[in-house]
Amino acid sequence: MKFTKSFDAPNPIPAKGISNAVSLMKNGMLYRYGHIDSDINFDGDNSPHANESEVSKLELAFSDYTGHKYVIAVNSCGSAMFIALKAMGVQPNDKVFTNAFTFTAVPSSIVHANAIPVYVECNDQYVIDIEHFEEQIKQNPDVKYFILSHMRGHVAELDKIQALCDRHEIRLIEDCAHGLGKRWNPDDSDHDNFVGHHCEIACYSAQSHKMLNSGEGGFIATNDEQLAAYCILAAGSYEELYKKHLSRPMDDSLFENIKFEVPNFSLRMNNLTAAILRPQIDLIDERIASYKEKHDRLITILSDIDCINIPEPVDAAEHVGDSLQFNLVDFDRPHVDDFVKRCAGKGVKIQIFGTDDNARDFRNWKYSFDEIPDLNNTADIISCACDLRLPMTFTMDDIELLGAIIKEVIDEMINQEPSLLRVSSK
Ligand SMILES: *Cc1c(COP(=O)(O)O)cnc(C)c1O
Repeated sequence: MKFTKSFDAPNPIPAKGISNAVSLMKNGMLYRYGHIDSDINFDGDNSPHANESEVSKLELAFSDYTGHKYVIAVNSCGSAMFIALKAMGVQPNDKVFTNAFTFTAVPSSIVHANAIPVYVECNDQYVIDIEHFEEQIKQNPDVKYFILSHMRGHVAELDKIQALCDRHEIRLIEDCAHGLGKRWNPDDSDHDNFVGHHCEIACYSAQSHKMLNSGEGGFIATNDEQLAAYCILAAGSYEELYKKHLSRPMDDSLFENIKFEVPNFSLRMNNLTAAILRPQIDLIDERIASYKEKHDRLITILSDIDCINIPEPVDAAEHVGDSLQFNLVDFDRPHVDDFVKRCAGKGVKIQIFGTDDNARDFRNWKYSFDEIPDLNNTADIISCACDLRLPMTFTMDDIELLGAIIKEVIDEMINQEPSLLRVSSK
């Protein structure tokens, strides 16, 4: 058996996104605050905002989807988190809590704001360990900010975290780079409970490996009018350009009162990016359904294999993602490496987070500490967690093949070394 598809295939750009982008390139109006000629009307767009910029219209569509009052499009999720910290008033050398298990862009955004990350351990569900969070709060009573990362779509005990943050006056930002369209309490049919609503500011990514693909791109989403005004100005809106935003607080004084106090960091999104993204908003639910079907099927297949353990999500979190993480129970490092190598030989690309070169291993974030922090649980978890990307291009047949190959590899290993099975107590 051999798998031949790429594990890095991004989501293609829908035809409407391509035609929007081509129209824009023909007229050159790529700057979000550029003059919009009323003659230019993309594909017979008759909406009330037809002549507004693509970025402004995208912000409105995004806020319609997530349910946040205000949305600001920027050039990346890393930039979104940086601006969010500045908007909350983070000062040089302030400390900011964040996950020990996440992507390097998260602590980097904290360092970008001249602040210092304080890491919270992850548990075997790949999310923030609440007890360790409480311990860190006790040991670091001066920390007033928290970027909570829904790494690989694993959502922590949001209600508990929010309650702890409220009690200790810690301001919460959610890193929703992998959280777009993901529901909290999905069985509660009364309303759409998306993640990204337990915090003051939620940040999203449109980098190619995420649900929305524009190569690069990010969003800041908030219900707070003052934070929204700050973020609009900081992203790169000067003079009276804030008036061109469709998804903004309409009270101009919020902007006029602070506009000379807020630096312009030039982190805007451009219209070409927005043109590519806007038609993808309508596809989010479809994409999630497709990911979910494949994700669920692969979990069913892998759950039957000895030595493989797939952690359950926390109660209220939806189990769906464009990737799957699983553990090889009791495998030591050489065996994990052997497994990865054998899978690679059959065309199945699996990565281990805890490796020398991996940007998701906290020990590699040397820019953020003098000494590697003691985070033994996280170190243990990332040393054996296998990460499997499941791009949209995979079919259900591909999922069956993937599962069969992984089973074949485990069987081979157990045949050669039966004691592997004995140590693995599933
Ligand atoms: C990709 C990613 C980011 C950063 O997104 P960019 O848009 O590339 O800056 C942040 N957090 C997580 C968990 C990510 O996977």
